[in-house]
Amino acid sequence: MSIANNLKTVMGRIASAAKRAGRDPSSVRLIVVTKTVDVESIRQAVAAGASVLGENRVQEAREKIETLGNRARWHLIGHLQTNKAKYAVKLFDLIHSVDNFELAKELDKQAAKIGKVQDVLIEVSIAGETAKAGVAMQEVIVLVREAAKLRNISIKGLMTMPPYSENPEDSRPFFRKLRELAETLTREGIPGVSMKELSMGMSNDFEVAVEEGATMVRVGTAILGERNKQIAK
Ligand SMILES: *Cc1c(COP(=O)(O)O)cnc(C)c1O
Repeated sequence: MSIANNLKTVMGRIASAAKRAGRDPSSVRLIVVTKTVDVESIRQAVAAGASVLGENRVQEAREKIETLGNRARWHLIGHLQTNKAKYAVKLFDLIHSVDNFELAKELDKQAAKIGKVQDVLIEVSIAGETAKAGVAMQEVIVLVREAAKLRNISIKGLMTMPPYSENPEDSRPFFRKLRELAETLTREGIPGVSMKELSMGMSNDFEVAVEEGATMVRVGTAILGERNKQIAK
């Protein structure tokens, strides 16, 4: 299967899932995850219509963005270390992985320096595994309230990554909880905070995510093939 065919298939599956849920297919954006993928394959994906690309690491993304330029938009989907914030604000339209106030503050400071308002999502650990990335459910409101006061970041919604399971249905309760959390936060009416975006769903469970309200799905393997497990984090 070619990348172009895979992309078309995934887009079709997203549209079908949206229709099943009574949603407009255009309300779901596909983020093509290109971590560890070579530039030539990324070029093919872009030529086939991939318009938003997701990367996990700032350094790797920086090299690719230098080569591929702004033929696509780039999102950071992986964990961000505070000391890389100054590069991240220069490279990414959206950062999906803000999960602590120190990081929010540093992004705000670095975005201000370049005269940008950085769009971000708050990454939530629904399962509450302490070792994993994401802010715990019960701490989300406090983080959003604090981060909302920062002028140079703009909160657009939530992101989550459920524990991996072979069965996509296992992800459904996590996706549903993220959507409910977004609804709760919307009712809080925190000034300057939007909860419009829900970034959830990967190759194995993106259709379930769309059924549960995802506005962004992050899909790598189903489009670009298996990654080298050694370097794929
Ligand atoms: C790698 C990655 C993805 C894509 O995973 P696939 O299973 O290859 O689709 C999505 N989101 C995050 C945060 C990732 O790190």
